[in-house]
Amino acid sequence: MKVLKFGGTSIGSPHRMKNVLKIINDEKDIIVVLSAISGTTDELINIAGLLYRGNKKEASMKADILGKGYLKLIPEIYDTNKYRKEAESVINTHIDYLRSFTLKEFSKKQEKTILAQGELMSTALFFLMAKEHEMDPSLLPALNFMRIDKDGEPDMFYIRENLDRELKNVQGLGPVITQGYICRNAYGDIDNLKRGGSDFTATIIGSVLTADEIQIWTDINGLHNNDPRYIDHTEVIRELSFDEAAELAYFGAKILHPSSVVPARSANIPVRLKNSMHPEDEGTIISSAYSSSGYKAIAAKDGITAIKIKSDRMLLAYGFLRKIFDIFELYKTAIDMITTSEVAVSLTIDDNTRIKPIIDDLKNLGTVEFESNQTIICIVGDFIAEDTGTTVEIFNALSKIPLRMISYGGSKHNISLLTNSSNKKDALNALHEHLFKK
Ligand code: ADP
Ligand code: ASP
Ligand code: MG
Repeated sequence: MKVLKFGGTSIGSPHRMKNVLKIINDEKDIIVVLSAISGTTDELINIAGLLYRGNKKEASMKADILGKGYLKLIPEIYDTNKYRKEAESVINTHIDYLRSFTLKEFSKKQEKTILAQGELMSTALFFLMAKEHEMDPSLLPALNFMRIDKDGEPDMFYIRENLDRELKNVQGLGPVITQGYICRNAYGDIDNLKRGGSDFTATIIGSVLTADEIQIWTDINGLHNNDPRYIDHTEVIRELSFDEAAELAYFGAKILHPSSVVPARSANIPVRLKNSMHPEDEGTIISSAYSSSGYKAIAAKDGITAIKIKSDRMLLAYGFLRKIFDIFELYKTAIDMITTSEVAVSLTIDDNTRIKPIIDDLKNLGTVEFESNQTIICIVGDFIAEDTGTTVEIFNALSKIPLRMISYGGSKHNISLLTNSSNKKDALNALHEHLFKK
């Protein structure tokens, strides 16, 4: 059994949707995970924002425009009037539902329900398309089995039990289609796996069902050695280990959701990254089988806040770090990088929703400084910790870039550097020139 996930651009037009149908037509025993059609989630976020600010008229207008965009696609997606009518009714139902939020009080909690409409629409349209092509598909509602716990982590036990049950009830012999990204939370409310979360859905499903392979189909021939949005002439990497891929995803390679490699690595299921516009290209394979030495890829993660805690009392004091970590644990905020000196600790976080109470509590331990708009640049490869050449090459490359923190030796796959976000593009370019263009 395989899990095939298609991202928003892969189903971004009738032509592309038909391409996806062709790709899955050659497969047997598959679960197809779909994102929302590209641009939809952004639009839904806009609509939720307008509702939240009480701008009901504009929210309703935006919902209309979104609906009209979908209705325009329908004649091209389907060959027969029967399916065109069914699809129109699906879209009208979802758009009416979106509009219904303008008639009542809007709370932040409802935002997630609005965001879920993107994946619900794309899968409904695709299901009808597969039906029209007599593929005997089934539509599996992700909200019936996908769930996160109180910490926002996938509840694997619940997911396994409920997905098994849902699959037992499947009648069709063809592809099983389900929504990426959307889920329920520990309270049963509609929630999601954060932006780009359909990748995560695919690896969670692949992992609980012990799939033979998880395929992430997107708009590029696999994972590149640098961010193609900022750097020209990046190259595809054909093979990566789980550890390397996990680091790259976590540290900003947008092609994969930050947590998406974790379930695949735990269950040892290979992940293949493929281009839906060029299915003939072999793409990238991520597995436990592969290891090599040297630099593999560079990624960057924005939106980082650096925090420095200075304290004379820290000098030779054990227990100081524990006190710091306790504060971050209390506010459920993960630390990405950390460096220490005799009198100070510097660390970074990417989620600053609870920054205020964190800083207030840290002030009890010493003087606290913090700065946002930081970027972690992460160089991933298979480094040997004692290898003298690695660090020299990296620092030579970055001789003109001000670095704020350096983390090396935590894992043999990753060297992380912190710099102001304004230096990001220069840093990525300089590293690319030095490390890959020899
Ligand atoms: P999808 O909609 O299919 O989920 P995404 O936009 O989330 O697609 O991810 C694919 C995009 O990720 C590519 O178009 C590319 O611009 C971007 N990207 C960033 N870093 C990398 C990288 N290292 N390798 C490949 N693509 C990358
Ligand atoms: N539709 C969601 C997003 O745009 C999830 C995804 O694309 O993976 O973030
Ligand atoms: Mg994505």
